[in-house]
Amino acid sequence: MTYVIEGQTGPWEIVVGLEVHAQVISESKLFSGAATAFGAEPNTQVSLVDAAFPGMLPVINRACVAQAIRTGLGLNAHINLQSRFDRKNYFYADLPQGYQISQFEHPIVGAGRITIELADGQTRDIGITRLHLEQDAGKLLHDQDPSHSFVDLNRAGVALMEIVSEPDIRAPEEAGAYLRKLRQILRYLGTCDGNMEEGSLRADVNVSVRKAGEAFRTRCEIKNVNSIRFVMQAIETEALRQVTLWESGQEVEQETRLFDPSRGETRAMRSKEDAHDYRYFPDPDLLPLVLEQEWVDTLKATLPELPDAKRARFQSEYGITFYDAGVLVAEQAVANYYENVARGRDGKLAAAWVTGDLFGALNKRGATIETSPVQAATLGRMLDLITDGTINGKIAKEVFEDMLETGDEPDAIIERKGLRQVTDTGVIETAITTVLEKHAKELEDYRNGKDRLFGFFVGQVMKETKGKANPALVNEALKARLKSS
Ligand code: ADP
Ligand code: MG
Repeated sequence: MTYVIEGQTGPWEIVVGLEVHAQVISESKLFSGAATAFGAEPNTQVSLVDAAFPGMLPVINRACVAQAIRTGLGLNAHINLQSRFDRKNYFYADLPQGYQISQFEHPIVGAGRITIELADGQTRDIGITRLHLEQDAGKLLHDQDPSHSFVDLNRAGVALMEIVSEPDIRAPEEAGAYLRKLRQILRYLGTCDGNMEEGSLRADVNVSVRKAGEAFRTRCEIKNVNSIRFVMQAIETEALRQVTLWESGQEVEQETRLFDPSRGETRAMRSKEDAHDYRYFPDPDLLPLVLEQEWVDTLKATLPELPDAKRARFQSEYGITFYDAGVLVAEQAVANYYENVARGRDGKLAAAWVTGDLFGALNKRGATIETSPVQAATLGRMLDLITDGTINGKIAKEVFEDMLETGDEPDAIIERKGLRQVTDTGVIETAITTVLEKHAKELEDYRNGKDRLFGFFVGQVMKETKGKANPALVNEALKARLKSS
């Protein structure tokens, strides 16, 4: 199967590999005890280690290592019981050490895979090459003063996981699906909050193009793209640039580029440095990282149910579609909410209410599942009242609106508004009599063969009972009446 940007890249196939930096959720930094909370005053969360004072020694944070292992396990990846930290040497003003402590030849996590879903419902596995732990750098502030730049070292030393994919991605949409799935898994695991606006998750995007069946051609790396939409746009823009170059007989140079969303173009930043430019060597301040299999097993035993497994279970346990199950497991909080509504009830009815009426209401109010004015137990109670015939589906919409407004329980609303479903056949018969008397003309037409009017009579009887009649009983009684008289 060859993927091309429809009608734009002709015989050219797009090849993409992603390097994702995910900030580890941890109280303190990778090699120091300083705090990691986002949004603190500049330079209030900086230890002497992070500021690289002479003679300071890094000490590995066990919690960060556990997070990397958990992530590796969640990505179906091999955990390397022996790994090592290396110094990646470069000069930059936000890096006081003059090197980043990273993992080069021996990462903590090896090969794994992520299954993505495509628009046509097909799934594909994208290979994970590796995951390694490294330190984040600080942040330069250029907009505080006309003649000086400042540095904020709060982020310096915070643990990052770099998750590298194989060049298995073949289209912008696949890159989007990969990032969405990776973000879901990280959030389920609680190892990264996945917040792209705050920079907790950012992607370097490697793009090349080739003709079908060819070996890979030269790639360019687009640095630090911070939204899924921009990643997809950057791939499309960059692939088209490369196709144009090759088609006109020019070469693609391996380089690092930046994506400018406002102009919709990528720009050269620097020619690509090779690994040897960083003068990697083992950090002499740190021992090799040796893990006990027993600890890995313990961490594995405590992993939560992940999105793919949850989706499959929702399908089989609650009888809902692949699509609905995918929507419901996208966020763990939504999945929990749904399950609290669906457990012991009609799973399809629960899915329809959660993905339809509830999501619609939350959207309208700018609320989330966490701030929903209707709790799962309350919605579940309402479904019970539909199932046991206390209210019909139409009245349920009215009850639900009231629940959103007042926060009242459905039983109380039904009492207050007198919405109990009419199942008294006497009442229904009387309503039918009234309707048939009122619509003598339509009755005559019906008798003369205008069958379609049956629906009209049902509607009128429902109206006569203020929507509260049991529709099945109305149907039955009307049929009998129209046949007999
Ligand atoms: P480096 O260490 O120089 O960044 P890697 O070999 O680690 O290089 O690859 C980095 C990323 O580039 C990986 O995600 C990989 O899948 C991707 N990649 C490698 N070759 C290509 C290519 N020809 N086209 C697109 N992506 C590629
Ligand atoms: Mg790399």
